[in-house]
Amino acid sequence: MTEKIGVVGAGIVGLAVARELAGARGAEVTVLEKEGRVGAHQTGHNSGVVHAGLYYPPGSLKARLCREGVAMLKDYCAEHALPYREVGKLVVASTRAERPRLAALAERARANGVPGIAELDALALREVEPHAVGVGAVHSPHTAIADFPAVARRLAVDVAELGGSVRLGHPVRGIRQGASGVEVLAGRRRFVFDRLVVCAGLGTDAVARMAGQPGDVRIVPFRGEYYALGESARELVRGLIYPVPDPRYPFLGVHLTRHIDGEVLVGPNAVLAGAYEGYRWRSFRNVGQILRWPGTLRMARHHWRTGVKEVYGSLAKAAFVRAARRYVPELTSADLHRTEGGVRAQAVARDGSLVDDFAVDVHGDVVLVRNAPSPAATSSLAIARHIAGIVPAPVR
Ligand SMILES: Cc1cc2nc3c(=O)[nH]c(=O)nc-3n(C[C@H](O)[C@H](O)[C@H](O)COP(=O)(O)OP(=O)(O)OC[C@H]3O[C@@H](n4cnc5c(N)ncnc54)[C@H](O)[C@@H]3O)c2cc1C
Repeated sequence: MTEKIGVVGAGIVGLAVARELAGARGAEVTVLEKEGRVGAHQTGHNSGVVHAGLYYPPGSLKARLCREGVAMLKDYCAEHALPYREVGKLVVASTRAERPRLAALAERARANGVPGIAELDALALREVEPHAVGVGAVHSPHTAIADFPAVARRLAVDVAELGGSVRLGHPVRGIRQGASGVEVLAGRRRFVFDRLVVCAGLGTDAVARMAGQPGDVRIVPFRGEYYALGESARELVRGLIYPVPDPRYPFLGVHLTRHIDGEVLVGPNAVLAGAYEGYRWRSFRNVGQILRWPGTLRMARHHWRTGVKEVYGSLAKAAFVRAARRYVPELTSADLHRTEGGVRAQAVARDGSLVDDFAVDVHGDVVLVRNAPSPAATSSLAIARHIAGIVPAPVR
């Protein structure tokens, strides 16, 4: 009998997993998505950067699946005529004090097998980005941009072509594991699967609780706000200009990113949100739940300085302008216009540490993706292959 597998979440990770299970494993796959379209949350609200793998500790899942994912995504985009452009990334040190961290980043990138890494001085970096300034930079010429929502839409078509279905408007409301499989209540319907894979992003904790597996990490939502450059200022940025990251923090700092549609964005910052889907300052829907997790307050105590800076940056446009002008001084406040942001699903442990690597748990017939933050969009096809390898084979 054909194996029946349910997938919760039609973001890029859930859809990639569904395609892999329907294709390589030949399962009958049903994707259950609460929204009326695919890629409605993180997949549709991000920087659109195909990360080359500079940042991640060698040997980590992020390091491995990012490199594998880039190659798979590049081929996938070529195969389906989806946009993919290697615009290149410049990580710029703006002070001499940042130089050792920049050198360490170049070393890590090489250890991860990122091709074409070059260390540039103040003059050479301007050949790559003529309007950027800094004391030095690391150049990653193959870092690319893609249209992740378009990739997600294409993956959904693949799932259908492989005999699966993507059920939009089907919020998962209950899960029960029993001898005859995993019973799932979604919308008004009841489904029975042999296996269930949960790729619910910001909704992970709620679905994990339904499955009786709250676990020992929780999703903490971090809003990422962006400004867009006006048309006349866009030519000041050719590709991607990033700061040297703070190694104590998983976020990359406000950067300038050219998008596939030609728009250039400045951002995102990282502000603790009061709701899982807290796209606005006024969203406090889940604040009680977020603050009840001991890890949230421990994390806030540990990172309070950065937190205060990020909140200031969220409230004051001047902080964003300053961050952008640090790398491209010709930009002025009039060039930046507030635009739509996103919310990151970042797992935080009980001790307040931010879970750095991708994390996937198996509980009987239920596989839970606990942490799939950036670069999970880049890595989605490789994450899918990894997950397909750990979804237990049917014994019934
Ligand atoms: C501001 C920002 C910038 C980023 N920049 C980059 C970048 O440049 N490059 C990169 O590689 N990554 C980036 N990322 C990370 C990347 O977007 C995510 O890692 C990736 O999209 C995760 O995909 P996903 O499918 O796990 O989650 P999502 O896209 O969030 O999908 C989860 C889905 O589950 C659904 N769901 C939740 N609960 C339920 C339920 N109960 N029932 C049914 N459905 C449910 C949701 O509606 C949603 O559609 C960024 C993220 C953010 C927020």
